[in-house]
Amino acid sequence: MRLLEAVIEANHRALAGDASAGLHPADFADELPIVALTCIDPRLNSLMPGALGLPENQFIWLRNAGNIITGPLSSTMRSLALACAVKGGKEIAIIGHTDCLVGKTNTMQLLERLRSLGIERHVLPDNINEYFGIFSSERQNVLKAAEIVRQSPLIGPKIPVHGLLVDIGTGKLEWLVNGYQILETFSSKWQEVVKSAGHTVDALKSLTDFNIGEMKFPETKIGEIVTRGEDWLSEKVHQIGTQAPQPAAAPAPPTPRPIPLPPPIRPRIHLRRS
Ligand SMILES: [Zn+2]
Repeated sequence: MRLLEAVIEANHRALAGDASAGLHPADFADELPIVALTCIDPRLNSLMPGALGLPENQFIWLRNAGNIITGPLSSTMRSLALACAVKGGKEIAIIGHTDCLVGKTNTMQLLERLRSLGIERHVLPDNINEYFGIFSSERQNVLKAAEIVRQSPLIGPKIPVHGLLVDIGTGKLEWLVNGYQILETFSSKWQEVVKSAGHTVDALKSLTDFNIGEMKFPETKIGEIVTRGEDWLSEKVHQIGTQAPQPAAAPAPPTPRPIPLPPPIRPRIHLRRS
């Protein structure tokens, strides 16, 4: 049984009242840690990663409003790629949730709310739906995100990309995209693309204005290019007469203390009382 199969099974068994349901992280050492993209909804703070039944140190948690992927080389894609390449993530899960307020807010409502914050339409991007990734179906949004991540040149042929939906009330997981199955067909396609390397570079260029030339400096530290982007942004903000906000000093990290992990890890879900 593979990681996500065990996660879903333990989650469903726990919801059915099986107190022994759970999984042993040691059994899935080759598939952990998992990289998860979820929404920013605060209700998920206590729900994840407990709903997956995973120890916190095996859960690389990325969040953005609506768990939206806007493009194969977007900022969130950059973080997903680094979560795998630098932090050792072995699988990716895009986890949407029920009752998502991002999905429930339409363009007119969003414009109205922005306006109440003093933000007029003319300072916003023309492609406002695309920019904010406005969606109407939580499921479709997960399917789309999983598809873009799967096709992104930043992820490659070794990382399964799953799509899930979590019930915000109970923690029940629904597996919408089985990344293992898709990976089987994807790997051979990827090989074909890699063989035509020139074509790949052109395809990459056409996706965005991503500058491949930036990748030629091996001594450049990750983040420097982003900082340059931030400098540019600060300059722009300054030009319109507003002082760019200084980043707040990061709070001191809590003193880490080793916590023994008692196996199995049981999914933390909320049993409905009937
Ligand atoms: Zn949400």
